[in-house]
Amino acid sequence: MHHLLLRMAITTSTPLHTTGNRWVWGADRALPRDGKGLFHIPATTLKGLLRSNAEAILRAWGHRVCLGTAPGGRCPADSLCCVCQVFGNPSYPAPLRFSDAIADWDRRPTIRSGVGISRYRKAAMPKLLFFTETAPPNKWLATAEGFFPSVGTALQAAALVAMAACTVAAVGADSSRGLGWLGKWQVEAVLDKVPVELQALQDQWRAWAGG
Ligand SMILES: [Zn+2]
Repeated sequence: MHHLLLRMAITTSTPLHTTGNRWVWGADRALPRDGKGLFHIPATTLKGLLRSNAEAILRAWGHRVCLGTAPGGRCPADSLCCVCQVFGNPSYPAPLRFSDAIADWDRRPTIRSGVGISRYRKAAMPKLLFFTETAPPNKWLATAEGFFPSVGTALQAAALVAMAACTVAAVGADSSRGLGWLGKWQVEAVLDKVPVELQALQDQWRAWAGG
């Protein structure tokens, strides 16, 4: 088996909000924190963004990709698409495990206010003022790692994650309100403790793009 480690650095260029399960005085929607009290972007959020972008790109290039969360839409375990091979599905555990992204900062969060808009009347809804806790623009660090049966499948996984990361525009909630826009989502791959050259990833991207 071959060990793949992906080191990810996510730079947010606007404040970020992902809703956690904490209660904070003065905020209706609080950021999630880990056991040490550090803010994080949950692993499931990272994985979900990368997966949906990977699906969209491969589909645009004419590859068979399963139908996502539609009932019966995911691939059977004996005939997995490229995306399920990396991100897994209900019948196939993902080989890559994602960590939460931890903020590389110790600045205080800010509280932003917002007004609920009625979709029907297209106007502000009375009595619907809410307060959202947001993390200032920052760098967030995360990893994904796992074991693959061959060098080829590990490189495919690295290429798919790096390609999807390039195209993620925003993380978290309320990007239409200007929150969570990304400066950059960088991915460094290390295969069996040796850094993977960009060329190896580019070769895979070219193969998928058919050129
Ligand atoms: Zn699939």
